[in-house]
Amino acid sequence: MRYWREIYAAMNDSDPKTTSTFPRANIDDAVRPTRAEIDLSAIAANFQSVARYVGVDVWGVVKADAYGHGAVEVSAALVRAGAKGLCVALVEEGLELRRAGISAQILVMSGVYGDGLDEAIDAGLTPVIFDRSQLEPLARFARRGQIARVHLKIDTGMSRLGISTPDVARTCEALASMPHVRVDGLMTHFADADCDDASYTDVQIDRFVEAEAAARRAGLTPTVRHACNSAGAFRFARARMELVRTGIVLYGVAPFPHDGPALMPAFSLRTAVLALREVPAGTPVGYAGNYRCSKTTVLATIPIGYADGFFRRLSSEAEALVRGERAKVVGNVSMDMASIDVTAIAKTVGVSVGDEVVLLGSQRGALGSDLIRAEEIAARVGTIPYEVLCAVSRRVPRSYVYKPAPARSP
Ligand SMILES: *Cc1c(COP(=O)(O)O)cnc(C)c1O
Repeated sequence: MRYWREIYAAMNDSDPKTTSTFPRANIDDAVRPTRAEIDLSAIAANFQSVARYVGVDVWGVVKADAYGHGAVEVSAALVRAGAKGLCVALVEEGLELRRAGISAQILVMSGVYGDGLDEAIDAGLTPVIFDRSQLEPLARFARRGQIARVHLKIDTGMSRLGISTPDVARTCEALASMPHVRVDGLMTHFADADCDDASYTDVQIDRFVEAEAAARRAGLTPTVRHACNSAGAFRFARARMELVRTGIVLYGVAPFPHDGPALMPAFSLRTAVLALREVPAGTPVGYAGNYRCSKTTVLATIPIGYADGFFRRLSSEAEALVRGERAKVVGNVSMDMASIDVTAIAKTVGVSVGDEVVLLGSQRGALGSDLIRAEEIAARVGTIPYEVLCAVSRRVPRSYVYKPAPARSP
């Protein structure tokens, strides 16, 4: 813990300055049993299933610390599984991967600010040009006598980032006139490829095809075109083009209807029973006491709370697994703790302090096994599984498992 000294020194210094940020909890320092376990073999297997299914190159989306799974570890697993490229949202996310020694192509999809363009290109990252305001810094960059390889994003209907369709021709002409700029890729992003109604995605695909023709007329010669996120890749075969940018399916979550391959969830959130008590009917549980036990109840206290990303809205809503059986979360989830009702499990198979409790993921018990998916938690709090995964906070150390696939018989 050298950080407090830096912070203390900064506070004693008359120059205002910012201090370094705190790293995420390290599994080796963890005293509390609460941890996220990430199965890298599941991620590798999902990558291979997706690649086989879509039949084109798959670039793994590892923004936001690989959706909470750990960007460096996940990227290493994806590259080993055959990924030729990775996608991040921020320059600093790309730099983190380069510092870790990852040499695959890395597309920076959005966060190129200020000098970020230079920094990205110096680090061998591929920035996305998504706004006409980037042309000027790109032209300035020319004076350095270096080639800038970029991808160009077209806004075909998401209205977030990308060159608007009426601006495509003149933007591409400007880019084509910059001899030091190579537009290697042309891309767009779908707004609702996960929805039942395919009509808007079809419109977006048609607009993208027209934009490509305009770009080629302007003199650009992109070698790759990409439009698909996970939902697009699974549901719109004609939009797969040279490569797809998939995130959520590689983590084993497919929150949309599809005929694609089965996927294995890679993330599990595990802790252990911290304390046990038996209370009589009528006993209130937790802050505000708005849950009251209707009968004699065995309560297990678990060391996980909303500060860990176990949403307070899961109060009296979620279920957890103990010895492979479901137990309801009862009472308000607090910052560091929550309570679960283990009355039935205590009667059948018994519960002890130290028993494993699974909030997300699978568990096997004497009587059977069960799985809690991110989709289930998301439905209970009214959000999407992406947010459930990203919400698990840095207080929760990540541990990694890699189980090699069983050798196939010839
Ligand atoms: C996040 C993101 C993706 C990946 O989306 P998934 O639904 O996780 O597959 C692809 N492209 C862009 C531009 C993104 O921001």
